[in-house]
Amino acid sequence: MRFILLDNEDIWIAKKENQIDFLFEHSAESSDTSSQVKLAQDLYAVECASLPTAATQKINLRQLFECCGDGAFQLAGRARQLLHWRATHQFCGVCGQPTRRHASELAMVCEACDICYYPRINPVVISLIHRQNEILLLRRADPEFSHFWSLAAGFVEAGESLEEAAHREIKEETGVKVCNLRNAGSQQWPFPNNLMIGFFAEYATGEPRPDGVEISEVRWFDRETLPRIPSQASIARKMIDHFFSTGS
Ligand SMILES: [Zn+2]
Repeated sequence: MRFILLDNEDIWIAKKENQIDFLFEHSAESSDTSSQVKLAQDLYAVECASLPTAATQKINLRQLFECCGDGAFQLAGRARQLLHWRATHQFCGVCGQPTRRHASELAMVCEACDICYYPRINPVVISLIHRQNEILLLRRADPEFSHFWSLAAGFVEAGESLEEAAHREIKEETGVKVCNLRNAGSQQWPFPNNLMIGFFAEYATGEPRPDGVEISEVRWFDRETLPRIPSQASIARKMIDHFFSTGS
């Protein structure tokens, strides 16, 4: 059996010569099967707060993308999402009794209420607003995210379509209106359980202005004036790179 060992948003890795390995043959906590989540045949995810062996170290999942690529990020992201789901569904939300694992499905079950709790995924729309050869970027007020510029993004609300959510978030965060939404793909984002759905959005009307609460600055940039933007692990970066490499 092999294990992916996580500590919240961090993953344990072992450096062997110039290679980085994140699949371990053994886990210090692997004897406790209640904390494991099966990812594939003979592959499990385990929450592991302590150092498994002296030759290991922790890195953030975003860094795993940078050193091991998209496939590793996808696999470890799934592990992170499932461990988070398992940890937050130990008890039934209706009656408060402990849940148990479903015999055949990836679900936690309350037998008393006959309810299955499946892994929760939160949809987030993220939009690249463009006007000729410029894109509209925004800087968040939260100090954790204020050191780079990114795209308008927000959670889809109950009752909304993805497109309605994109229009609403763009108007709220930047003050502008857009038209001609085009799908820009999607990506899991395991912080902790989001599904990012991208749109290219053509600028229509309005003067850019930050909402003054979540967003501190909104500004147009062209390719030559780009500020610091999100890491290559993110769909935001892929959308920005795509726009400037194709011009659309
Ligand atoms: Zn219950």
